[in-house]
Amino acid sequence: MFRLFDSLKTFPKGGVHPPENKFSAGAAIEELPLPKMVHIPISQHIGAPSEPVVERGEAVKVGQIIAKSAGFVSANIHSSVSGKVAKIQNMIDSSGFVRTVISVRVKGDDWEESIDRSPDLVKEISIEAKDIIQKTLDNGIVGLGGAAFPSHVKLSVPRGKKAEYLILNGVECEPYLTADHRLMLEKADEIMVGAQILMKALDVTKCIVGIENNKLDAIEVMSQKAKDYEGISVQALKVQYPQGGEKQLIKAVINREVPSGGLPIDVGAVVHNVGTTYAVYQAVQKNKPLLERVVTLTGKSVSKPSNFMVRIGTPISELIEAAGGLPEDTGKIISGGPMMGKALTSTDIPVAKATSGVLIIPENESRRGVVEACIRCSKCVGVCPMGLEPYLLMTQGEKAMFEESENDRVMDCIECGSCVYECPSNRPLLDWIRLSKVKVNTIRKERAKN
Ligand code: SF4
Ligand code: SF4
Repeated sequence: MFRLFDSLKTFPKGGVHPPENKFSAGAAIEELPLPKMVHIPISQHIGAPSEPVVERGEAVKVGQIIAKSAGFVSANIHSSVSGKVAKIQNMIDSSGFVRTVISVRVKGDDWEESIDRSPDLVKEISIEAKDIIQKTLDNGIVGLGGAAFPSHVKLSVPRGKKAEYLILNGVECEPYLTADHRLMLEKADEIMVGAQILMKALDVTKCIVGIENNKLDAIEVMSQKAKDYEGISVQALKVQYPQGGEKQLIKAVINREVPSGGLPIDVGAVVHNVGTTYAVYQAVQKNKPLLERVVTLTGKSVSKPSNFMVRIGTPISELIEAAGGLPEDTGKIISGGPMMGKALTSTDIPVAKATSGVLIIPENESRRGVVEACIRCSKCVGVCPMGLEPYLLMTQGEKAMFEESENDRVMDCIECGSCVYECPSNRPLLDWIRLSKVKVNTIRKERAKN
């Protein structure tokens, strides 16, 4: 019998435990039919938007590069379909900003011949570390857990630093989302080989996969598989949001604390999401660019909560149709989970590399509560995993006291929303904190110039 109850770890500071509602956990990953049109954003990652290298009217194939990385922190973008470039236009994306997209009208399904589309597992890793990094860059791999950080940057360990641990994030702590859970059940071998590729690139011998113990089947499958792969182990974790945050995960798994303003590599760790690891496997062993991903489509009134394999650029309306249509009582549609996701303004918005899920919230749950005065209960302080004082940061934001906010470490906020979730007065804490972060960032840039 698999034993895990003796060994559950978690991060020690703050956190909340919202109701889980993982309705789609039993739904196997299903290939979404090809849409008629895709809209592929040229900025789907942290860093510089990539530069289009195709023109209107040009024919493209699946896997063909259509926009090139425009700097070290940037990523290549590939066509997820075959057809003709219909337009290069501006569209609102899931973050609410207007972005340039390359719209491709789909015709057939022709793939680049260099891509190995066979289902065969390729275990042997016959490539050097520097070439692994190049392959992740060439194939447009970015973090699929939400932050969309270009993976080649994370793999390029700065001079003077040394990675000791690769930590794989299989936590999936956002209530409702199940994309990573299903991937671990259905593609465990590929994730294991992907982990070994990342270990080789980082020159580390230890890899720990962190999985919360509300996914016992995934813990079991991944633990069994790990026995066949040297240096990889699975750590079952107590369920505690936001354990998927890099700093919280590192603390939970190896008990090291990333300093304020520091990076995981400062404590010898590099964290990659399990979905990213699968994408790295495909890029290195199959020469397949990041052109599709698993997306959970779910909600209390959704008739068929699902996990779909979706081509990047597919309008969200297509996922909703495939999951049984828009429920009558829909109040809000969120890209991502309920804690960190963003409300969508239209269902035409396309799936991007960082789209892990689409959540449909019923009308009776979609309204914000009436904002009341702060009662100084300090609940927001108690749940903040970063040890911040959210009520104070909000007041500083309201009063434009950005230097004080900076001193009180507003930039350490990981925007997890735990404080908002817990506040009995429905205070819009995170709205003000986000504003302060933008302002402090501007102040810092100005300071650096002078
Ligand atoms: S202040 Fe930031 S890090 Fe702290 S609980 Fe609120 S959103 Fe999370
Ligand atoms: S949880 Fe809300 S009411 Fe309580 S101290 Fe924080 S901001 Fe004030």
